[in-house]
Amino acid sequence: MFFRRAGPSYFTATLAKTPRQTISRALRECHAFGRKRIMDVIVIGGGIGGIATAYQLHAAGHRVCVIERHATVAQGATYGHGGPMLPSPLDVWFGPTFMGTRRANKTGIVFKPGFDTATRDFAKKLALLRDPDAFAAQYARLRPLVDLSRRMIGEIEAAFDLDYEQRTGVLHVFRRERELEQAAPAIELLKRFDVPHRVLTPEECIAAEPSVPGDPPFAGGVLLTDERTANCPLFTKQLKQILEERGVEFRLGREAASIRLDGSRAAVELMPLDSALNGAREVELIAADAIVVAAGIGTPGLLGRVNAKLPLHPLRLHTLTAPIAYEEHAPHITVVDSIKRIAMTRVNQRLRVAGGAVLQSEAKTVRPLGAGLVDRVIALLGQGTHDWIPGAAKVSAARTWEGLRLLSPDGLPVVGATDHARVFVNAAHGPAGWGLACGSAKVVADLVSGLTPDIPADTLAALRIDRF
Ligand SMILES: Cc1cc2nc3c(=O)[nH]c(=O)nc-3n(C[C@H](O)[C@H](O)[C@H](O)COP(=O)(O)OP(=O)(O)OC[C@H]3O[C@@H](n4cnc5c(N)ncnc54)[C@H](O)[C@@H]3O)c2cc1C
Repeated sequence: MFFRRAGPSYFTATLAKTPRQTISRALRECHAFGRKRIMDVIVIGGGIGGIATAYQLHAAGHRVCVIERHATVAQGATYGHGGPMLPSPLDVWFGPTFMGTRRANKTGIVFKPGFDTATRDFAKKLALLRDPDAFAAQYARLRPLVDLSRRMIGEIEAAFDLDYEQRTGVLHVFRRERELEQAAPAIELLKRFDVPHRVLTPEECIAAEPSVPGDPPFAGGVLLTDERTANCPLFTKQLKQILEERGVEFRLGREAASIRLDGSRAAVELMPLDSALNGAREVELIAADAIVVAAGIGTPGLLGRVNAKLPLHPLRLHTLTAPIAYEEHAPHITVVDSIKRIAMTRVNQRLRVAGGAVLQSEAKTVRPLGAGLVDRVIALLGQGTHDWIPGAAKVSAARTWEGLRLLSPDGLPVVGATDHARVFVNAAHGPAGWGLACGSAKVVADLVSGLTPDIPADTLAALRIDRF
């Protein structure tokens, strides 16, 4: 047990109905030991964001406890990843090729803001990044985090020799000439950042991936020769196993109800176990030297007492996982409908198709989608496979899944310190956070340790929570 084994700077208390004085005492005791080099750190969230953060904190020598409301890790957005690990300029969910119109059959995104001004404003802000200069400047800010993430994933692979269904090669395809032209600023960025790639004619696309049909005709593609896809939940679970064996404590099936702040001190209030069953009113308070919130969609709620309301918006995304139908039609590299942001990745004898985003008001997004909308987005994904890799998968036998991601209005994640000295954040990676979360985990671990992260100051500033 994390706290039983831990040194005196941890404090865990069971709080009765009127916990105010007890909380203050708990926090005072925790604080009395002051900040020290080896710290006790609580990470809220057992997705790739939380587990990668726990890994980096543990590697930095800290004692770590992960709190996750599900019975195991990788059950949130991490479960539904599409495959591509790190976002190239073609993969980010902003820029000239993203949401050019409101028509879902053109953009791959169902945009239904209704009368909700917040959702409309959010979409307008993202649309500002369709300007090629604004897009280039924003991707340039993100790029060092992509590079850092690549290094961190490489170090983990080298240390543990993990097999998590990695594959190399991602082919972005474009139906119309105009769409390929829209992608020109992204292709420029591929050159500028030395991302290995080849701009291909339709014939060259078919040679690179024979499952792509030449009829109906299409404009061409971009092959990212070195970019990889892999199984994010499998990686997350393997990392969790490694951490558990090394003494990181996991409190699974426990929900962080809130973060309690008292002056310079912070603690996490855990929901009672089985409270719904026995009506228990006791909550458990655990304090540590630092708290990292990596709670995916749950992040803004937990940070409510730390930072002003964040302008992050939930986005619903879908996956289809279908058995391979005909081996000769199955793709060997990942094929991405670049404009519709639909990724089709082969995983052993299955095909995983991810995308089908629905952007609605926050209130509607957190409620289940109506059957009509579900059918519409699943049809979008099915159409993606029909268009680009027909006959590859038995779509009629597919399993569907949906998950929520937080997206920021400037397309970048929220990573780093918060308004409270002991509270940090690693969240809002949008639909491209599988690999990025590994680099931002290192940024957060450095900040918790009082070190300067190994990314330029303008990137760090562009990720800050108070940038909005
Ligand atoms: C369908 C889909 C496809 C995607 N495809 C790709 C892709 O191809 N490439 C890519 O890079 N990214 C992709 N993404 C995005 C990527 O999966 C996410 O960016 C990433 O998984 C985010 O991880 P996370 O840890 O921040 O969030 P999550 O995985 O959601 O983890 C947050 C965790 O916190 C827990 N939690 C929340 N609140 C509390 C609380 N109060 N107490 C305790 N626990 C709590 C949740 O239960 C959850 O397990 C995709 C996402 C989806 C949904």
